[in-house]
Amino acid sequence: LVSLAAGFVDNATLPCAATQACLQQICQDQSLLRRALQYDTTLGSPRLRRSIAEWHNRHWPDSVADPDRIVLTAGSNQFLHLLAETLLDPGDIVLAASPTYFVFMGTLQGIGARVIGVPADEDGLNVDALQDQLEHLAQQGLADRVKAVYSVTEFDNPAGSTLSFPRRQQLLDLVGRWRESHGPLQIWSDNAYQLLRYHGESLPCLTSISPESSEFVVEVGTFSKSFSPGIRVGWGVAPTELLEPLLSMKSNMDFGSPHFSQVLLQQVIEQGALDEHLPTIRAGYRAKLDAMLDALKQELGDTPGVHWRQPEGGLYVWLTLPDGIDASEDSGLWQSATERGVLYVPGHYCFPAEGEPVASNTIRLSFGVQSEDGIRDGIQRLAAAIHAQS
Ligand code: PMP
Repeated sequence: LVSLAAGFVDNATLPCAATQACLQQICQDQSLLRRALQYDTTLGSPRLRRSIAEWHNRHWPDSVADPDRIVLTAGSNQFLHLLAETLLDPGDIVLAASPTYFVFMGTLQGIGARVIGVPADEDGLNVDALQDQLEHLAQQGLADRVKAVYSVTEFDNPAGSTLSFPRRQQLLDLVGRWRESHGPLQIWSDNAYQLLRYHGESLPCLTSISPESSEFVVEVGTFSKSFSPGIRVGWGVAPTELLEPLLSMKSNMDFGSPHFSQVLLQQVIEQGALDEHLPTIRAGYRAKLDAMLDALKQELGDTPGVHWRQPEGGLYVWLTLPDGIDASEDSGLWQSATERGVLYVPGHYCFPAEGEPVASNTIRLSFGVQSEDGIRDGIQRLAAAIHAQS
């Protein structure tokens, strides 16, 4: 079975040697080991928070990440959950690209929030459409229930698109104006894939485009994709006024995420192991992405109505099939694909329940786990299944 479904990172390039070296250094330093084995603060290790801020500001020179505004969590998913749990009441509204990251959508629905989908394309969220949706909600008397715009800003999961520079400016502008006229709307910028760029120029993060926006933008990051999801350290850089409520919720949850992981990541950064690891994984993923795009062109390039996005990074390619073809898990296509031994994520999972209509003729393909040969093989099987439907 060839899985093009799981969004895991590449097993073959996990940083085994670097992790082993850093663990040995920690174990050889008794006071560091003792510290690592102890609880730390609710916000998380001050040293790691400083390192993240420095690292962030070094990579995005106009950035204003401040260690005192960073909350460390067990993966960015925990931070997103914390944010939602702290700030949302049932019935509150979060606007997101359609399609969007389905795990977070589940979290939001689980706490009774409404997720409304906004049209998006290769350049990410369509900000004109977002403005229309906001105005529509205001006309319905719901302006005070709209709490956040959630954006997977770079190489998003699932569609692989990146919010373009003009749209970043437009989004900051729109939310800034909305805040003046209607109240405290925020942008939750999920940067899970930010460091996985394989083609094109990197773009400034939202708070580095407009430092004032750090009053209403939450930048969310993780080492899961850039280093290791097993160590599971993520973070959020939050506006000052959110720190108190986030901290209070976190102290009720766990009064601090696992400190040993934080010390390990601190060692990884200090030893330069993260900076060394990034070129290796970028080269590997670039080859895999190119293999997937080539295979799609070869196998499906001449099939009418089939098209896909060309991401510049991340782990996903978003495939759209002709209108009549259903790709959901009880469809003929799914059956035919599994019989041919290939798995994918049906795109319909990723559409918010409200807003843009669900497009069941869509598929999320992941290229992180399979080898280049596995990717070509998987796409051949999938193409055969698609052709059998037409
Ligand atoms: N955001 C997005 C968009 C993701 O795809 C993921 C992982 N699949 C996460 C956040 C969470 O990653 P982690 O909790 O491991 O940091």
